[in-house]
Amino acid sequence: MAAETKIDDEIEKLRQEIQELRRNCAAKEKRLSELEAQQQKQNEQANAQQQQTSASSDQMLNNDDIARYSRQLILPNFGVKGQLKLKQTAFLIVGMGGLGCPSSQYLLAAGCGRLGLVDYDEVERSNFHRQTLHTEMSIGMAKVESAKQALQQINPHCQIECHRLLLNSENALEILRQYDVVLDCTDNVATRYLLNDACVMLNKPLISGSALQMDGQLTVYNYGENCPCYRCLYPVPPPPDTVTNCGDGGVLGAITGVIGSLQALEAIKVALGGLGGEVLAGRLLIFDGGRCQFRNIRLRSKRADCDVCSPKPMITQLIDYEQFCGMHASDKDMALNILPLENRLTVEEYKNEVLQRKHILMDVRQPAEFEICRLPNSENVPLKTILNDSYLQRFEEELKDEERGIILLCRRGNDSQLAAQHILQRFPQRAVFDIKGGLHAWHFKIDNSFPIY
Ligand SMILES: [Zn+2]
Repeated sequence: MAAETKIDDEIEKLRQEIQELRRNCAAKEKRLSELEAQQQKQNEQANAQQQQTSASSDQMLNNDDIARYSRQLILPNFGVKGQLKLKQTAFLIVGMGGLGCPSSQYLLAAGCGRLGLVDYDEVERSNFHRQTLHTEMSIGMAKVESAKQALQQINPHCQIECHRLLLNSENALEILRQYDVVLDCTDNVATRYLLNDACVMLNKPLISGSALQMDGQLTVYNYGENCPCYRCLYPVPPPPDTVTNCGDGGVLGAITGVIGSLQALEAIKVALGGLGGEVLAGRLLIFDGGRCQFRNIRLRSKRADCDVCSPKPMITQLIDYEQFCGMHASDKDMALNILPLENRLTVEEYKNEVLQRKHILMDVRQPAEFEICRLPNSENVPLKTILNDSYLQRFEEELKDEERGIILLCRRGNDSQLAAQHILQRFPQRAVFDIKGGLHAWHFKIDNSFPIY
């Protein structure tokens, strides 16, 4: 009897304990679902807040913006509205050289939202006098990367995108499409036509600048109703031998600084609808740095039969611009190959075989270049004095001696071939040679201490 009572008690006790545990469990489950609901609500609120912040970052100014841009914010025609518009605008700079450096600097410092940089080239020492973003530390680095590093120091709030490539008809539209305003900061005719046609096709304004020696030019294409495009002004490209770039003709750094800064100004005006003034569209600014004079000339209106911007264009997709212009789309000197092999000497052949013999060594560079560096036994005979035959009188005596070889030399071995070709036409029987690769080859193969420029 006693044993039965003991079992009953234990069963009852277990039932009560299980009931208690179930109540506890139910309470904990309730608390868990309450907490989970609370957590979900908090997450939703945080997400909503984040979305609001990112949407408002280009729709309102924060305290950093207000402090950073205060001097332009107080301009009556700029104001908060202008700053926000700039923040929502994407600019593309093609060419990170003498024009691209100052224009990118001012656009970024002013607070543009997004800045694209296009350049295929690397930083070298001869860039520094005008390309002010690059430093000794960045020699050999891609120009777009070197520029990006420097620009980030100026304003860390803007997005910078690097396009390390040579712009061509395969990639231009895809890249330009991502931006609102395009700046042509290049130094060659083929890229000018390419950018012009691509901007007309995509209906993007194009801020076009150029600088050479002591002069600069600036205009805005494809902005407003009757604004001509580059092709309206120049339906056919100039003959290649009439085009000089900075590498050949030289340029003062301050000239590119002036034009590049003005490109940034026009780009900002375009983005902000004129900024209370008038965009330089349909007009050409000519800067004469020698006299420090600015002139404005009115350009012709749109050409009714323009191949690209007329209502019935002939060109509706991008073409091969290097072929169209007969020129390369890079600013690098391309090696000519116009002389027959038997009239070409290597620097080693000249040094070891010809130097000891009777000859005239004509250095066909400009006098200013000859003054920088020269081979000791050379005579300065600028290319144009050969092409116009005025050298004949100067070397009358030497030329009578038919055994005397005529050797032509220049910086890289292109002009020397043109000179040799011209002299050979007059004296087909004589020993006329050019030195392959010119003074650059002399530096690399014969004498490292000889300067290159
Ligand atoms: Zn046109």
